[in-house]
Amino acid sequence: MRLVDTHAHLDEESFDAERTEILQRAAQQGVVAIVTIGTLLSTSQRAVELAVRHREIFAAVGVHPNYVTQASDADWIAISRLAREQRVVGIGETGLDLYWKTVPLDLQREWFRRHLALSRELGKPVCIHCREAEEPVLEELRRAAAEGPLRGVMHSFAGSLETARECVGMGLSISFSGILTYKKSAALRELARQIPHDRLLVETDSPYLSPQPVRGKRNEPAHVRMTAETLAEVLGLDLEQVGELTTINANRLFALSLA
Ligand SMILES: [Zn+2]
Repeated sequence: MRLVDTHAHLDEESFDAERTEILQRAAQQGVVAIVTIGTLLSTSQRAVELAVRHREIFAAVGVHPNYVTQASDADWIAISRLAREQRVVGIGETGLDLYWKTVPLDLQREWFRRHLALSRELGKPVCIHCREAEEPVLEELRRAAAEGPLRGVMHSFAGSLETARECVGMGLSISFSGILTYKKSAALRELARQIPHDRLLVETDSPYLSPQPVRGKRNEPAHVRMTAETLAEVLGLDLEQVGELTTINANRLFALSLA
């Protein structure tokens, strides 16, 4: 039984005191790889450090749309350099966020485009955050897709079926987080059935978005199994089958070189 947590924020300070235990608990649940995601230059550097130190951890580097006002052009140059390192398997987290309304959309778009261009240049997949911004995200993706198929993932997907279909059509994968397990997410579970099996991924987004059984507690990579269980129920498959399917997909997308 294998699982990959394709999106976690392991650099978070709240993990520092018990990182060894967290990795052990993840391994006990079958988690063979974790992609830890940067949100600024500082956390991207931390992500790479963790990936260098731990065989099962891989890094993605980028600036989260909510933090682009805190990042400089020099930071971007440093991130572009970091992105070339061997342990870096993805670009992001990037995307657009109109939920918090704290960062001008034009500036978010500009940073999103930088990430999409770097992803294409390096052939490393882009990790896309989309919160209450489906139309502008699709606009940017269509623009980028005009230059060739996209490689990446819509992380913690909670959008519409139309959006999911269009993203899949442009070459992207769809990743489900603990949101899939919530009682109110019946429409999302229905949507999951419509996604081609070779584009399905699972993630925790830990320390956020704990699945239903542990909702309200801090999330961690071991809990990706709960989301995989829900996905298995939805698809009418065994947990082991969904684990294997999503692990093969993650291994291919992020080029993790899993055996
Ligand atoms: Zn994230």
